[in-house]
Amino acid sequence: MRRAGEEAPPHGGREPGGGTATAVPAPVQSLPPQEVFAALGASPRGLSSAQASDRQREFGRNELPRPRRRRIWRRFLAQFTDLFALVLLVASGLTFLAYALQEPHQVGNLQLAIAILGVVVLNAVIGFAQEYSAERTAQALQAMVPHTCRVLRDGQRQEVPTGSLVPGDLVVLEAGDAVSADCRLVEAHGVLVNNAPLTGESAAVGRMADATHEETALRARNCVFMGTTVLAGSGKALVYAIGAATEFGRIFRLTDDVPQQKTPLQREVAAMARRVAGLALTIGATLLLVRWQTGAPLVPTFVFALGVMVALVPEGLPATLSVALAIGVRRMARRQALIKQLLAVETLGSTTVICTDKTGTLTQAEMTVTRLWANGTVHPVTGVGYAPVGSVRDPEPVRELLRVAALCSNARLLPASGADGPRVLGDTTEGAILVAAAKAEVDMAVSAASAPRLTEFPFDPVRKLMSTIHQDTEGGGYLVHVKGAPQELLRHCTHIDRAGDDRLLTDRLREEVTAAADALARQGLRVLAAARRRTPAVPETQEEAESQLTLLGLIGMLDPPREEVSRAVRSCRSAGIRIIMVTGDHPLTAEAIARRVAIVTTSDPVVLTGPSLDRMDAAALGALLSGPSELLLCRASPEHKMRVVAALQAGGEVVAVTGDGANDAPALKHADIGVAMGAGGTDVAREAAAMVLLDDSFAAITAAVELGRSVYRNIRKFLVYLFSHNIAELTPILAATFAGFPLVPLTALQVLAIDLGSDVLPALALGAEPPEPDTMTQPPRSRRERLFSAALVRRFLFLGAVQSLGACTVFFWHIHASGIPYAEFTADTPAYQEAITMTQASIVVGQFFNALAVRTDRQSVFRAGLLSNPRLLAAGCFGLGLMAAISYAPPLQAVFHTAPLSLVDWAILFAFGLLLLLAEEARKAWLRHRSPRYPAHEGALR
Ligand code: ATP
Repeated sequence: MRRAGEEAPPHGGREPGGGTATAVPAPVQSLPPQEVFAALGASPRGLSSAQASDRQREFGRNELPRPRRRRIWRRFLAQFTDLFALVLLVASGLTFLAYALQEPHQVGNLQLAIAILGVVVLNAVIGFAQEYSAERTAQALQAMVPHTCRVLRDGQRQEVPTGSLVPGDLVVLEAGDAVSADCRLVEAHGVLVNNAPLTGESAAVGRMADATHEETALRARNCVFMGTTVLAGSGKALVYAIGAATEFGRIFRLTDDVPQQKTPLQREVAAMARRVAGLALTIGATLLLVRWQTGAPLVPTFVFALGVMVALVPEGLPATLSVALAIGVRRMARRQALIKQLLAVETLGSTTVICTDKTGTLTQAEMTVTRLWANGTVHPVTGVGYAPVGSVRDPEPVRELLRVAALCSNARLLPASGADGPRVLGDTTEGAILVAAAKAEVDMAVSAASAPRLTEFPFDPVRKLMSTIHQDTEGGGYLVHVKGAPQELLRHCTHIDRAGDDRLLTDRLREEVTAAADALARQGLRVLAAARRRTPAVPETQEEAESQLTLLGLIGMLDPPREEVSRAVRSCRSAGIRIIMVTGDHPLTAEAIARRVAIVTTSDPVVLTGPSLDRMDAAALGALLSGPSELLLCRASPEHKMRVVAALQAGGEVVAVTGDGANDAPALKHADIGVAMGAGGTDVAREAAAMVLLDDSFAAITAAVELGRSVYRNIRKFLVYLFSHNIAELTPILAATFAGFPLVPLTALQVLAIDLGSDVLPALALGAEPPEPDTMTQPPRSRRERLFSAALVRRFLFLGAVQSLGACTVFFWHIHASGIPYAEFTADTPAYQEAITMTQASIVVGQFFNALAVRTDRQSVFRAGLLSNPRLLAAGCFGLGLMAAISYAPPLQAVFHTAPLSLVDWAILFAFGLLLLLAEEARKAWLRHRSPRYPAHEGALR
């Protein structure tokens, strides 16, 4: 990809299109705006579609080259450097050494060495496949977030994919936009950008359109660059470099892939796995020493100790964990919630407060003006949506109000296309004003021509005003048009329009306007006021422009609540999650909407406004937030939102925050879970958030919380499942040692067959369990709660003890039933082979029932439905089938030294399995009896 005008001195240009070079006397930043157009072969109407596609062919797409990925085989080999893998590799090497040194060679040791090696390879394959597929999923999900920008093409404002930008394109920039190419500003109104990605300095820097004498474009104040963001203001800029030719492209190093960050949960599990591996080594080594000291031969004792170690290490755990998290991410994507960080999945589950926006998240963001107020009278407006179908009752007195408000707007109406109805490009509030103006038969083309816009002071959620300055071609002089929140705008007004006359705005008239605005707000309408001022000269500052205004009237618009929201709100309530609405809107509007979506249900919610928040100190705010009352934060700016989030967190809450604007970024970053809007939000907000809602709806947050909770619960389920059988593997071995039995009740090969054969699939199926019906009827988990809580350990110790009882009983029962003295047993004694087959089968059958038992934490599995997870049943049956094969198939018998089991044997094993299930049922019943609701300390059993 090339930079336009690459052959000319810095940033200068020949015409990038047809190749007919136009000599440009100076670099792009030193030209006056009009000359930049010529230099880049562009026009104030933008490129034509034909020019754009010609240039795309010549310059290619506006994309950065993909980073070089680490070679696939190197990424595969990296799997073997993990601690687990290293321990097992050493174990395999030692076993092979034992085989090689011992005369005559013991084939069993060779088999074991190969099996352990097989485990390492299998784990590496699963780990690699998971990493690879998680990466692919992440890429696919990222691609779902729209990357578009607004350009003028064929004289029309259009939204195009950023990849299709070409040199000479005229880009329209607004606060919150990510800049998609290197551009030279040709029009700028209060533009502030964040150049941090390029320069590292995080302070906002101002930009303007005038020519400068800076040598490099990077230093020039009239250029904006790819990768940076517009924090405030608006403007137009001409693209002069795209893709790799941009400043960002130049510094963009072709790095090896960034190491994937582990989430706290993954780290906790990894640390636990290391501890378990350490414990396994210690126990193994101690047993080796004890037995060797008492005269046992070294090599068989070593093989025995190895068996203990292998029994204790949860080989399948890392793979199962990443699968469970990946499944959570995929399920959330299906519900329109895109998780950018795996970490968010777990945090979501512990969310205690959601601070939500109103427009778009709780409402449909389909604004329709339904009431206009001017000169003391309300004028209803008919029709719904963005089609200009409907009418204004008695439109004459409100035409000037609508004309001024519409001229002070940047949105554009797009006609219906195909199945889609008419759409708004830009702010929907402004779109609704344009539609109302059309319904009142205001000719906007004529109005715009008679009052061309000179400057704009963009809308800003702190000021809650927007103003534009126009030339008055008919009356001479200049016009200032202002629209914004009535309370804010009134403070800037000195006069009010009464049937075409400017009247002094007395206190009584002010009260009349406020009462009219309140009446509209009480109906749940978003209310805007519009004002105008005539001046002989262009005002120099924003303050000057927005002073001494004449109020023209009020505009009330309806934004219906989303249908699915009240159900989602109720579900959050029953899940113990508090919802705080944070809005820039009027308190009465906010309360009306909050009631409709069930956020407010009592008669006395606390309605806090931004200005009153400013007067509160931290202690008072903390006290207010810790109270139980329903809370609405109105007339709030993003800074207020930020303060509330910080105060909630200081009070120990886990806070999810939604946001869409550029200034929401700090609150989104600061929140435990920042949630940005995918459809209506700005690029800056999406960048700062951990989760992006593709359809902007609050209901998706609730669904994501539910999934987050269930992922966490599922992880606990398979941890209990995996650890309890490790205990059942270890206990018979220890029991045999202390009982003085010379052989192991379970060989290392058998342990591996259980851990990696019959156990992995049920663990995966547990990780994929759908949310339990009670997931959203319990309080959020405490922040202090650890994954390995005492309750979790108690649970697997309990299940492990019951399983151990079965395993020891069946083994020693077979040994004793044979009547052979301990000392005469060898590996080839048929009774011994039957006994070890029984031990293995007792664990496999026990795990079948264990998988069913751990599916619910307190509820009876019989109520949840024994057969309700067919995948788990299938996985359990696969394990049983594998065990049967090991018992009956001669080749496997030869490898595992096993013997065929009789029907009576199976009946006994199943009786022990049922005992496990019933014991766990009794424990759950006891828990339910002891505390009918979930006490906090029992979190781990959830
Ligand atoms: P919500 O919670 O509904 O999403 P918000 O927090 O985004 O609202 P803002 O967009 O900051 O609220 O709007 C606050 C007030 O500013 C609105 O009630 C309205 O009166 C006014 N307002 C909104 N958009 C504009 C605009 N484009 N021009 C002028 N005033 C506006």
